[in-house]
Amino acid sequence: MPDIELLERQLTARVHASAQPSEVLRAPEIRQLYAQIRTLDASQRAEFGARVNALKLSIEQAIAARQAELDYVELPPIDVTAPMDVNAALPALLPAEQGSQHPLTREIARISEIFGRMGFVTEQSREIDDQYHMFESLNFPKGHPARDDYDTFMTVETDREQEPLIAPAHTSTMQNRTLVKYRDQLERGEAIAAIVPDRVFRNEDLDARHEHTFYQVEGIYVARGVHAGMLVATLKKFLEEYYGRQLEVRVNPFYFPFTEPSFEFALSCPFCEHGCNVCSQSKWIELLGCGMIHPNVLRAADIDPEVYTGFAFGCGIDRLVMMKYGIEDVRHFESAKLDFLRQF
Ligand SMILES: [Zn+2]
Repeated sequence: MPDIELLERQLTARVHASAQPSEVLRAPEIRQLYAQIRTLDASQRAEFGARVNALKLSIEQAIAARQAELDYVELPPIDVTAPMDVNAALPALLPAEQGSQHPLTREIARISEIFGRMGFVTEQSREIDDQYHMFESLNFPKGHPARDDYDTFMTVETDREQEPLIAPAHTSTMQNRTLVKYRDQLERGEAIAAIVPDRVFRNEDLDARHEHTFYQVEGIYVARGVHAGMLVATLKKFLEEYYGRQLEVRVNPFYFPFTEPSFEFALSCPFCEHGCNVCSQSKWIELLGCGMIHPNVLRAADIDPEVYTGFAFGCGIDRLVMMKYGIEDVRHFESAKLDFLRQF
């Protein structure tokens, strides 16, 4: 009788040393054991057969363990604190639906592009500012009653004059900075021409036409001999480009502390000939405020109002876009509703 225990140890050793361990099951020693079963007496056959089967089972288990060992690939360790290797290939990103620009972002780019073709540079505003830029530099001295028309949010922190910082209620806060930044151009005989399309804030009760956060485009143009006719022509040209059709415009006297004279600017309704819901059947839309820059505003930027004049305007971007696309509720813009955003 063969020594099955010795054979088991030998075969197991062979499995552990093999790169293809399942081959060991085909070893001639095992085949011989099975052949031997048939030659035995019936009295011995059952017990011997059981031992051979146990041997085979033991070898199969050793093979499975050895195969698992061979399948295990050791990966180099990752140092998660190491600085990123800029030469390494980028990891594949998780699959995600491709996003799109917010309609206001896209329209602001369009507005900048139209004014850019007219020679205006685009400047950014800021979301926290001081009261000097919100009021004093724009000819609203302390205690001026018109300050009350610009009810916005304030911080607990204060500026150098111990006044609370504010969330700008209009992009006119950038007039003084823009005039100072570009005033050297005037001496070289070039105009200052800039727009500031950015976010502004008001302490409003929300409804379909009022948001606490919205967008405004400020425009300023300063040079020698600038007059109100140039203001009207510039705005008319812009609006005709934006709405893609010829428009009539109308200016009515108005009041702002930072322009003199000041106007309210209306355009013929781009959507109808005889009255519609957008223009409340009037065929005219009061769109924006504008005027000739007040001499005090130029003086605050060290520009001589005896030599240079300029115009300024401020227009709500949300309103422009709502009219363009027939959007009925300003609150859609900040709602993050995909049903709304996917229409653009
Ligand atoms: Zn209309």
